[in-house]
Amino acid sequence: MKRQLVWLRTDLRLRDNSALHAAAERGPVIALYLLSPGQWLEHDDAPCKVDFWLRNLRELKAGLDTLHIPLLIRTAPRWDDAPNLISQLCQELGIETVHVNEEYGINEAARDAAVQKALASDGIHLRSHLDQLFFTPGTILTKGGTYFQVYSQFRKVCYERLNLGVPSLVPAPRAQQELNLVSDEVPRQVEGFAIPPAALRNEWPAGEDAAHERIALFTDEILGNYQDTRDFPARDGTSRLSPYLAAGVVSPRQCLHAALANNHGEFETGNSGAVSWINELLWREFYKHILVGFPRVSRHRAFREDTEQLRWRQDTADLENWQQGRTGFPIIDAAMRQLLATGWMHNRLRMVVAMFLSKNLLIDWREGERWFMRHLIDGDLAANNGGWQWSASTGTDAAPYFRIFNPISQSERFDPDGRFIRRWVPELARLQDKAVHDPSKLGLFGVEGYPQPMCDLSATRDRALEAFKSLSASR
Ligand code: FAD
Repeated sequence: MKRQLVWLRTDLRLRDNSALHAAAERGPVIALYLLSPGQWLEHDDAPCKVDFWLRNLRELKAGLDTLHIPLLIRTAPRWDDAPNLISQLCQELGIETVHVNEEYGINEAARDAAVQKALASDGIHLRSHLDQLFFTPGTILTKGGTYFQVYSQFRKVCYERLNLGVPSLVPAPRAQQELNLVSDEVPRQVEGFAIPPAALRNEWPAGEDAAHERIALFTDEILGNYQDTRDFPARDGTSRLSPYLAAGVVSPRQCLHAALANNHGEFETGNSGAVSWINELLWREFYKHILVGFPRVSRHRAFREDTEQLRWRQDTADLENWQQGRTGFPIIDAAMRQLLATGWMHNRLRMVVAMFLSKNLLIDWREGERWFMRHLIDGDLAANNGGWQWSASTGTDAAPYFRIFNPISQSERFDPDGRFIRRWVPELARLQDKAVHDPSKLGLFGVEGYPQPMCDLSATRDRALEAFKSLSASR
């Protein structure tokens, strides 16, 4: 049996790992992880996300140790360095096949193609496996053979495919004979990426066991009412699994199976909480298919090309106030401060703050996309780009440009007693009841140093409508 190399990337788990499983079926396995700080910086990967990768890698190494699978850690500062490094390593180790799980950005695809080419010239195979998604991009298409641009139509075909069979799980590999190779230690930190504060790290414990505890807690206690709780940021009403999904500490198949087990195997009918959660997993799927079908979004181009003509405002002070949670709109500030403190933001608020930046402030959505990516522990090109372009009305199946969320009504509706605001904006903690949503209405400027609203919502809404209307006029 010939030696296999599994090159781990965003698939930091033993269970239900397609590439690891396939490698272990063929022969003795050696695992590889590349540290690519230059590439990570170029991709705006957040320090808390890189730290989460390292912490999960350490947990994974402990698991691999028990199976006698050595883990080698090498540095390829940029992905251009990967082909040489991997082909040399494969020759030294006598590798027959390198196994990877597919990744879908254009740089990731180009990297894998270059590695495949380098290996092929040495007679070594690269085998890619479907792992991050239920369906391979390019297999869920319209009747005309094109990628779907409308989510509900995409979902319908996904349902048809799931009716034919739900993707099955693969087991963790069995322990193998010891190889004469010593594992590398996982570094505590990578230069250029600061270690986040303990409070942030504690919020997101690393490892498959921690992730599965979260799945169990969510499916036992939250899933049944997910549809009613998911929009309320003060409640523990969503799974908070996104960092684990983004790093591949759990697979979407494991999530799907957990939801189905709680809904008598049904994904389209039955408990509305489970159905609605599976819909979110399919949104995740949709945006990754979009990334492959429309590679321009990987280059941060607008999906709706006409919106490239929008005249965005360049205003560094406004952008900074938004970034730091000093807009004077409590719900926006609470959300932006949640992001800075925890590396995560509730989905409802991601939409609210994204609309505020791209519509009320009329600042290019790419500024927001970048800021999110630099701070999110779950930062994911496809979902982040999809979410930003949805909110800015530049994307596929996006919010219509005239549907602009009012942050104060969103706050009154989704944080009715102001609990979320009081947690993250302590300056306002003592305000009574409704005053917390809009202190300026009561003339309460400067409460404990809290700023005045940075703009007039109605006038800035009109400005955004004008900007978008002028686009349709020029079409
Ligand atoms: P749950 O409600 O429990 O959903 C389960 C899973 O489904 C999530 O973990 C996630 O993997 C997926 N999911 C849920 N909603 C969406 C969605 N709208 N689009 C794609 N996948 C979804 N999600 C990321 O994972 N990474 C990002 O970088 C990211 N950036 C976003 C930026 C903006 C502007 C917006 C509006 C949304 C963004 N999302 C992103 C989607 C969504 O906000 C998060 O996935 C969700 O808040 C994660 O919390 P959860 O795990 O509790 O989600």
